[in-house]
Amino acid sequence: METLQSLTGTEDILPKPQLVGQDIKVADISTWQRVEAAARDIFHRAAYREIRTPIFEQTALFERGIGEATDVVGKEMYTFKDRSDRSLTLRPEGTAGVVRAFIQQSLYAQGGVQRLWYTGPMFRYERPQKGRQRQFHQVGVEVLGSRDPRADVEVLALATDLLQTLGLRNLTFFLNSVGNPEDRARYREALVAYLTPYKDQLDSDSQDRLSRNPLRILDSKDEKTQAIAQAAPSILDYLGDDSRRHFDSVQQQLTDLGIAFELNPRLVRGLDYYTHTAFEIQSSDLGAQATVCGGGRYDGLVKELGGPDTPAVGWAIGLERLTLLLETLNPAAAPTVDLYVVSRGEKAESNGLLLAQKLRGAGFAVELDLSAAAFGKQFKRADRSGAAACLILGDAEAENGTVQLKWLQSGEQLELTQADLLADVEGLRSQLRAAREV
Ligand code: ATP
Ligand code: MG
Repeated sequence: METLQSLTGTEDILPKPQLVGQDIKVADISTWQRVEAAARDIFHRAAYREIRTPIFEQTALFERGIGEATDVVGKEMYTFKDRSDRSLTLRPEGTAGVVRAFIQQSLYAQGGVQRLWYTGPMFRYERPQKGRQRQFHQVGVEVLGSRDPRADVEVLALATDLLQTLGLRNLTFFLNSVGNPEDRARYREALVAYLTPYKDQLDSDSQDRLSRNPLRILDSKDEKTQAIAQAAPSILDYLGDDSRRHFDSVQQQLTDLGIAFELNPRLVRGLDYYTHTAFEIQSSDLGAQATVCGGGRYDGLVKELGGPDTPAVGWAIGLERLTLLLETLNPAAAPTVDLYVVSRGEKAESNGLLLAQKLRGAGFAVELDLSAAAFGKQFKRADRSGAAACLILGDAEAENGTVQLKWLQSGEQLELTQADLLADVEGLRSQLRAAREV
């Protein structure tokens, strides 16, 4: 029979790393869990609350929320008709769904500022390569309801905190302002005037964008277009007073917090609801897929999607790229258990199961050997499990209500009653801790 395979551009994340030679072939879950735990901790300490929105939504949400002129909507969405002939799309990013929920659930009615974070799978039909998949994962934050430049700086600081806590190095943080829609209209004119004489030399996507969305030409990946864009006028020269003040304040406060950044006037988001701050964090260790984090301010989006005029700012980090970086930095240790239960003989086996359950209930991580193999074989598995100690039950122990406790590192073994073992879980816990520290 034909064996079924996972789809191109999707990945299994396994409990233990799969090594092929020195290379990690398949990602392992402990790196992901480390990232998720660090993110949750950092977000909660800044009073951000988790939000979970559906993985699929009406196609129109993304068309309006991301913009039809973008690559994501134009080429990358997983869009399909359901059985009732509705057009649905697997979410390609998190912001549109969060803003939809903010409006639909009237989160704005609570007043003040909403600080939200999310994580989960996203879907884009792209050419899969290292750091680029069709099902990938993001963690992201959104702050809704504040125009204050401190909100921009707060979300930026959360991103750098997270990346630093995880120990990442070789990161560059690029910053820009795209002003407000009026600033951008003036800049757009200047940009089109500059680019038009080069029209024939631009890549074909960029030629298309010249009339529809010229700002996006600045982040074209085509070399020739990039060379032309290098000398284009800078949007920073077109900021009005309000935008200038906002941007100066963001820069000043980043400096006060000791967060280093580089200005990059070609970092743009072409759509009208993007305003002011735009930023990206790149790693020099990722090859072509260098951007780990992207975000900025989107003061026009909530209104664009039918909600009340609400300023907002946020970012998203790509978790595949982040875990790739972490795994090259320090490959995760395989997870281990505290105790490994070895038993042989009918009575001892059911006694072992009961003892394992009681110890799990007391807070220990316990692995029960299910093989019913010879003791020697079970001991070998106990060694491989990474447990600090092994509990051994044979016919005699099951009969007497005792158990052999064997410390795997020293080989030291003692017999005690199961009742005594369970009566002194604190003693056992500190002995396990001591054994781990050796
Ligand atoms: P890129 O220029 O690499 O295509 P993007 O501008 O499309 O990125 P965003 O929409 O800003 O990316 O998404 C934020 C982050 O999500 C990216 O910086 C990246 O880390 C991650 N990401 C985006 N698309 C993918 C993908 N197909 N596979 C893995 N990660 C992705
Ligand atoms: Mg992309």
